[in-house]
Amino acid sequence: MREVKNIHTRRHIMKEVKPRVFLVGETRIIPEGMQSYLEHIGAPHWDSNAQSDAEKLTEFYGKLCYKSFAIGLNPNIRKVRESNKEYIDHVIEVGHGSVMEHAVINFAFADVSRVFTHELVRHRAGVAISQESLRFVRLTDLGFWAPTIIRESPEAMEIMGRAFEHLEGLQYKLAELFHIDEMRDFGVKKVLTSAFRRIAPIGLATAIGWSGNIRAIRHVLEMRTDPAAEEEIRIVFGQVGRLMQERYPNLFRDYTVTDVGGHPHFCTAHRKV
Ligand SMILES: Cc1cc2nc3c(=O)[nH]c(=O)nc-3n(C[C@H](O)[C@H](O)[C@H](O)COP(=O)(O)OP(=O)(O)OC[C@H]3O[C@@H](n4cnc5c(N)ncnc54)[C@H](O)[C@@H]3O)c2cc1C
Repeated sequence: MREVKNIHTRRHIMKEVKPRVFLVGETRIIPEGMQSYLEHIGAPHWDSNAQSDAEKLTEFYGKLCYKSFAIGLNPNIRKVRESNKEYIDHVIEVGHGSVMEHAVINFAFADVSRVFTHELVRHRAGVAISQESLRFVRLTDLGFWAPTIIRESPEAMEIMGRAFEHLEGLQYKLAELFHIDEMRDFGVKKVLTSAFRRIAPIGLATAIGWSGNIRAIRHVLEMRTDPAAEEEIRIVFGQVGRLMQERYPNLFRDYTVTDVGGHPHFCTAHRKV
């Protein structure tokens, strides 16, 4: 359910929403395929104590590089790291980051602004993006998340509320002017919806689907929970970081998390892995 709160300013009602993170997918291993490969190279007994497929895949691809699934497979190797935790710690320590590009995690970010999405899409490496189309989706019910500095001032909230209500009203006026609700031609509706959005506030709540490989997520997590980053993106990636540490502990355990101004800052000694 969308978390919506109506903020009554002196004359207006503004729907305040909170940015939300939904973890909607992750890469899965095909056990019989992996087993066939292991038999093919003579390591049929290899397994991992990883708690997730993402962690197991990372170990699998790392061990594929050096044929280090078991002692004796590669005569150059005398020792193999048995635990997934120990193995991934080593990957991170030596900076063998490319093995963390195989597993992809899928998110849906809801009730985030176009301010947020504009910042997010600057991250290009290792990600996939599907953004709610404001050419197709008409703006009828604008949600808004207020940054703390605005929320703390009733006068600022009043100004923001008035601006939002005014701009929302203009969307309705334009829709009426063109009789868009009576129209059947979806092509024309699309042209009109696209034209109307030009006067929508960039703070309006929207949605974006975002997938990233583990290496990319680690990079963005660190950059976007930094205290210098914008509050909204810090909130979103703070949630991303918590979800990642819970579900893929070995891939995110090197981060120390400190509270800076009420939001978590994820920091690691192994930047740029
Ligand atoms: C606090 C903050 C303030 C910012 N202010 C501004 C601003 O005022 N104006 C502005 O325009 N942007 C701003 N940005 C955005 C910033 O410049 C980056 O565009 C954005 O953070 C994406 O990060 P990235 O370049 O690491 O890209 P990602 O796509 O996340 O790439 C990850 C890494 O891959 C490598 N990489 C990716 N693409 C290439 C490539 N084409 N060639 C070589 N190596 C590549 C780099 O090592 C890069 O760090 C800001 C970001 C932050 C966090």
